[in-house]
Order: sequence, then structure tokens, then C-alpha cells
Amino acid sequence: MEVVIKPWHGIPREDIKWHPVVDESRCIGCGMCVTGCGRKVYGFDYKKKRPVVVRPNNCMVACVTCANTCVKDAISFPPKDYVQELIKKEKLLERAMNELKERVDELKV
Ligand code: SF4
Ligand code: SF4
Repeated sequence: MEVVIKPWHGIPREDIKWHPVVDESRCIGCGMCVTGCGRKVYGFDYKKKRPVVVRPNNCMVACVTCANTCVKDAISFPPKDYVQELIKKEKLLERAMNELKERVDELKV
């Protein structure tokens, strides 16, 4: 199934530098990151036995699941500050609060 990439809180995904980086020297080629990502960010080089980040912009902004499930700590991401600064710079809190109001019927518990 094709992964549909939408803007993130109104920001074009290609303007956000968020994707995994694999340290091949630490990686053991287990494939946990490849098979665990539901957004098809990774392919796998079967000759080298290493994951390859083939669709970086498919990565969910601020997701670090594959890094957390890599037992060799071979995957890294930009620091959390990068996303938090983006949120402040682009005034995304206001946007989120407005969206909460607009979607009250859907989200109210
Ligand atoms: S989960 Fe870690 S060790 Fe396993 S293939 Fe991915 S990067 Fe390599
Ligand atoms: S952080 Fe999440 S979305 Fe991004 S590659 Fe890893 S598992 Fe996939």
C-alpha cells in the first residue's frame, strides 16, 4: 500500500529535515528497523546486509520508534530541540489549538 505523505501541521514535508541515519559500523543487519516501520522509509541491501533509508520524507516527523527498537543503538535522529524550535518558529501551537476548536465534535470525550 502506498504511503501518502501530507504536510506536517501545514509545513511541506520536504522542508523538514527529519529522518533516520544508520551507523553501518554498529548495525548487525537484523532488519528490525526495516520490518518495523509502517511508512516504508527503509529498503534493505541484501548484499551488504544493511538497511538503506530510501524514502526519508516518509518518516513521521518526531517519530524515533526504529531508534528505540534497535538493540545496537545504530540509528540516530536530529535532536528533539530541532522539532521543538520548528514548532515555536512556525507558531504551530496556535495552529494546534485552533484545530482542537474546529474538531470539537470529533475529539471531545
Ligand atoms: S535495527 Fe539496528 S541493527 Fe537491526 S538492521 Fe536496523 S539499524 Fe541495523
Ligand atoms: S522513526 Fe518511525 S516513521 Fe521514521 S523510519 Fe523510524 S519507525 Fe519509520
